[in-house]
Amino acid sequence: MTKHFDLLVIGGGSGGLAHAQRAAEYGVNAAVVEYAPLGGTCVNVGCVPKKVMWYAAHHAHQMHHARDYGFELRVDGHNWNALKVRRDAYVKRLNGIYASNLDKRDITVIEGAARFIDAGTVEVDGTRYQADRIVIATGGHPIVPELPGAEHGITSDGFFELEERPQRVLVAGSGYIAVELAGVLNGLGSATQVIVRKEGVLRSFDSMLSAELMDAMRGSGIALDTGVVPKSVDKTEEGLILTAEDGRRFGPVDALVWAIGRGPNTRSLQLDKAGIETDRNGFVPTDEYQRTNVKNVYALGDVTGRDALTPVAIAAGRRLADRVYGGMEGRHLEYRMIPTVVFSHPTIGTVGMTEAEARAEYGDDVKVYSSGFTGMYYALGDDKQRSVMKLITTGTDERVVGCHVIGEGADEMMQGFAVAIRMGATKTHFDDTVAIHPTSAEELVTMR
Ligand code: FAD
Ligand code: NDP
Repeated sequence: MTKHFDLLVIGGGSGGLAHAQRAAEYGVNAAVVEYAPLGGTCVNVGCVPKKVMWYAAHHAHQMHHARDYGFELRVDGHNWNALKVRRDAYVKRLNGIYASNLDKRDITVIEGAARFIDAGTVEVDGTRYQADRIVIATGGHPIVPELPGAEHGITSDGFFELEERPQRVLVAGSGYIAVELAGVLNGLGSATQVIVRKEGVLRSFDSMLSAELMDAMRGSGIALDTGVVPKSVDKTEEGLILTAEDGRRFGPVDALVWAIGRGPNTRSLQLDKAGIETDRNGFVPTDEYQRTNVKNVYALGDVTGRDALTPVAIAAGRRLADRVYGGMEGRHLEYRMIPTVVFSHPTIGTVGMTEAEARAEYGDDVKVYSSGFTGMYYALGDDKQRSVMKLITTGTDERVVGCHVIGEGADEMMQGFAVAIRMGATKTHFDDTVAIHPTSAEELVTMR
């Protein structure tokens, strides 16, 4: 007999769990289908283990500067494996917490891979389930390029499986993951090279952030080469060697990490059986209410191809439940002014338009304020790290439409400013806010 639920969510990651839990709180009989550990990318192979590794590298930086403050430290190496064991145990604890959160709300967990039979029916390991509403929240996977020898490389998933620190690493890519993993590896002592295929890293960010981060990466010892289009990879006795289209060779290295973007997990879902459309890359497009082209089938999170961030998936999931089951008519996620942090070394925090975007939209109506300085933390030593900040305003009231920060503490700085900017803060509001001293953040309210 086919089992029936009010709601069937495919994918137990950030978005799927948030949606199912909020729906269950409204009294909905919900089930979640998941073939991997609960929590999805963020918990298992994304934000969480990444931030643990970032903290480890951050410790290395702080120990490096500790002598400026009078400490006589002797660091006896770093035990990567001991860190991994503790990190994995933490992730496992989180998997358990997610399971018990579902249990508390009487949400059924169906273990296995789901595929559509029709628009209201899904099959998992030979059992069929019907639901009034189905939500696709299957996330994505790292892309490996199609070129000879590419299989010798690993992706971010493989990075989290590394039992020991590779001595020599080549990271190919220019986005979030490339700069974050390169920063971690370099911080923990690997000889780290990064190759980007165009002119720089983080090209979709404000150009100031991209340029400053490249300087900082190079300054910290990372070898960064631009205009490198990978052509092939060879496994030799000395290690892996990557050859570029222009003949340049990189390596030999012990590990090659592909960090060139992520694709959607839609291939095995049999979406065509339900008539659900995808775009040419396989992502599931939705309207502003997370509706697909098929009635009562929704999609959210990374699988939709928009703003692939955990809080975005969670917010979309909760708001969909509020609207469909909680009587909050019209409630939906606005995909604008989404703040984001890159856990590079140093960190980047950003919200709103880049300068180029603002000038394209508002032309001469744009006024930009910026500031570059060395934070007090570095005042006592010779190895200094710059902070750079930029505020982008438009109109006579100088409404702030973009805020970009790179430097010490940028990660923890941005959330509050994002609230103010979303509320429509102007430069005068910033100026009228009394500074908190001595901090780096105060620079954002004292720019002239
Ligand atoms: P996912 O969390 O990927 O969940 C999808 C789930 O669906 C998975 O568990 C998968 O196993 C399951 N699934 C797939 N197909 C099927 C099927 N057919 N049947 C059953 N189950 C299925 N975001 C941030 O905001 N901050 C960060 O610091 C950050 N760091 C990141 C670092 C890395 C290395 C990576 C890779 C990503 C990072 N992200 C970060 C992005 C973040 O992890 C994702 O945006 C987020 O996890 C998306 O949530 P989701 O629910 O859409 O998908
Ligand atoms: P990104 O989309 O951030 O960056 C990948 C970049 O790699 C592309 O922009 C492109 O840059 C380059 N690239 C694409 N194809 C190739 C190729 N064939 N060869 C060489 N370079 C190529 O992807 P990531 O994998 O870094 O991360 C995926 C997403 O996960 C992010 O966009 C983000 O949404 C999320 N994430 C969020 C984090 C956070 O919040 N801190 C951390 C990690 C991930 P170009 O065109 O310049 O060459």
